Amino acid sequence: MNIYIDGHCDTLQISFDEKNKINNKKYCFNTTDAKTIAPVIQMAAAFINPKYQDGFERANNIIDYYLENKEDTIIIKSKKDIETVIKNKKIGIILTIENGKAIENDINNIDILYNKGIRAMSINWNEDNLLGTGALTKSNKGLTELGKKYLKKLEEKNIIIDISHSSEQTFWDAIKCTTKTIVATHSCCHSLCNHPRNLKDNQIKEIAKRAGIVGICFCSPFLTQHGKANATDIIKHISHIIQLVGEDYVGIGTDFDGVDEEQALSDIKRIYDMNILVNELKKCGYQESTINKIMGENWLRVIHNNIL
Ligand SMILES: [Zn+2]
Repeated sequence: MNIYIDGHCDTLQISFDEKNKINNKKYCFNTTDAKTIAPVIQMAAAFINPKYQDGFERANNIIDYYLENKEDTIIIKSKKDIETVIKNKKIGIILTIENGKAIENDINNIDILYNKGIRAMSINWNEDNLLGTGALTKSNKGLTELGKKYLKKLEEKNIIIDISHSSEQTFWDAIKCTTKTIVATHSCCHSLCNHPRNLKDNQIKEIAKRAGIVGICFCSPFLTQHGKANATDIIKHISHIIQLVGEDYVGIGTDFDGVDEEQALSDIKRIYDMNILVNELKKCGYQESTINKIMGENWLRVIHNNIL
């Protein structure tokens, strides 16, 4: 592969909570292992667990800890930073927000997060929030008025909109009130595995229409209804998207350090294991050019086209 790009991991919040650096090999994504396959771009989330009263404070704590302990990583804020990472075979980090609760009820907090380096933001986590209903909602309300303002502001600032964890209604409301690319940083296919976190085929088609991408999530319950998943299941979901919309709209979104041991795959458990997926894709007959797209080039196109 020419470049490895992963749409989602939760390493930053764990490293902040445990006061460890991201080069620590105990983490599924860590810069020590990532260096061996560089250039690497990791979209790394400040995940706001709804249990935190002040989401904005939590987001800032996680981001500030990373900025003080960047190790050898380059924070990607522009097209120029992407070129630097690729040319020098470095590890690039794109800071993202998982759960729009990070702004609490103040749209202007988006400016502050952007200035710290945030370049992609989701609307939800699983629960309903001030912006809209989440994947596990019992309501069909969708996006709120504040949610509409939130998306407008993200588009103005060229922050990539991530609809992973949003409910179906929130997804379609978001499509109605935006025009730019929309991505799912870590989601799988509902037609292969009936789970509320997964995307239906018409949603995947809409993401492709917007030149976006679905990052396949390495979380067993999203991949199969038969216990532990493995690389073969990942490839089933990748193949489904390729059959549905072509090979330009699928990548990976591992959710490393966000999936517990019980839900993790049986074979690919950390960035160090990623050669297993590459080898299995080859065995399935995928050409090198397609494998390169899946492992990073599709994400690269999306990031490059949407970041300033
Ligand atoms: Zn998640």
